[in-house]
Amino acid sequence: MRPNEIPAFLQQQRQQSLYRSTRMVESAQQTHIKIENKTYLNFCSNDYLGLANHPDVIQAFQNAANHYGVGTGSAHLINGHSCIHQQLEQALAEFTGRQNALLFSTGYMANMGTINALMQRGDVIHADRLNHASLIDASLLSKARMLRYRHNDLSHLHKNLQKQTLKPCPNQMIVCDAVFSMDGDLAPVKQLSKLAKQNQAWLMLDDAHGLGVLGKTGAGLLEQENLSEQDVPILMATLGKALGTAGAFIAGSEDLIEYLKQTARTWIYTTAMPSAIAAASLESLRIVKQETWRREKLQALIKQFQEGVQQLGLRLMPSDTAIQPIVLGSASYAVQVSEALYQQGILVSAIRPPTVPKNTARLRITLSAMHSEEDVVRLLEALQKLPAQA
Ligand SMILES: *Cc1c(COP(=O)(O)O)cnc(C)c1O
Repeated sequence: MRPNEIPAFLQQQRQQSLYRSTRMVESAQQTHIKIENKTYLNFCSNDYLGLANHPDVIQAFQNAANHYGVGTGSAHLINGHSCIHQQLEQALAEFTGRQNALLFSTGYMANMGTINALMQRGDVIHADRLNHASLIDASLLSKARMLRYRHNDLSHLHKNLQKQTLKPCPNQMIVCDAVFSMDGDLAPVKQLSKLAKQNQAWLMLDDAHGLGVLGKTGAGLLEQENLSEQDVPILMATLGKALGTAGAFIAGSEDLIEYLKQTARTWIYTTAMPSAIAAASLESLRIVKQETWRREKLQALIKQFQEGVQQLGLRLMPSDTAIQPIVLGSASYAVQVSEALYQQGILVSAIRPPTVPKNTARLRITLSAMHSEEDVVRLLEALQKLPAQA
């Protein structure tokens, strides 16, 4: 892109309903949020359990800021690693049933750093077509050969694995979202684990949308499916979604974590996350484990929403998670519907290409344990009055 080409590009994005812009939020992240002095019913946050603005989480953040200040001053390996970071890593390892865990400042960085530490030119990465952008970018940067398989298509993946006939077999990794971020459906993790073992490939799962929400104690899809560290050697999850704070971690064996400390560039060459964020995450984790009612309430709301949408005759995707997308097709129609909902005081984002494949632009509706049944009824009523497709 040359400087003089940018105006035409921006114009084209607008014409194709692909232009992206921010809205300025004037309140905390909660089910009712304020934008331009008006209150909107929020159905697009990943704060699935309502912890982003929880008083105990805020208090933990404030207490830690009083003690540790705000900035950490340096990277973990210099002198940025505090006792709170250490405690949180241990707590996350215990929570997920792994030997150890390593904190990263964002999920994007956790994926980037981990995949690039393990995979190089000559290696092979098997990636689901619908993987999150951070997994795609990480795979591309590694220069490993990336073989993408059709979404959740195990026979396609199996075929791609069998194509690796070189002796000795190259270092391989199977990597995908555990809960797909724009579809809400689950990866067939048990079968993926089997395939990875049979082919001596790494298996890395990104449970950004499962942690906190799935599993008996909220430890995510791998708890729900009863998969150990031996079954899934690399677990990544984020703290910015159901835990309501910020950051991410990798959980795995002692050796894997020590290896990442030596080699993961997005961990080595960056300032450690603020200790107050780590303290807030520890408090969130306590609530996630103890307050099972949040997961139960969320499940009840998901059911209520699914039944309501079915009655409206709208097409839902096969998802039982808090992510409930309604596929609308063209980007322009998705934007039109999203704006119509906005006019009625309901905030739902239109997700367009390239985030999702062409002609599958959608409303990405997300539910939170903090929504009430009345909130869901209001959303359903608004969906009933959708504008017709032009
Ligand atoms: C949000 C998300 C990430 C990125 O995490 P951040 O902490 O927001 O950078 C990675 N993977 C998936 C599947 C996500 O949904």
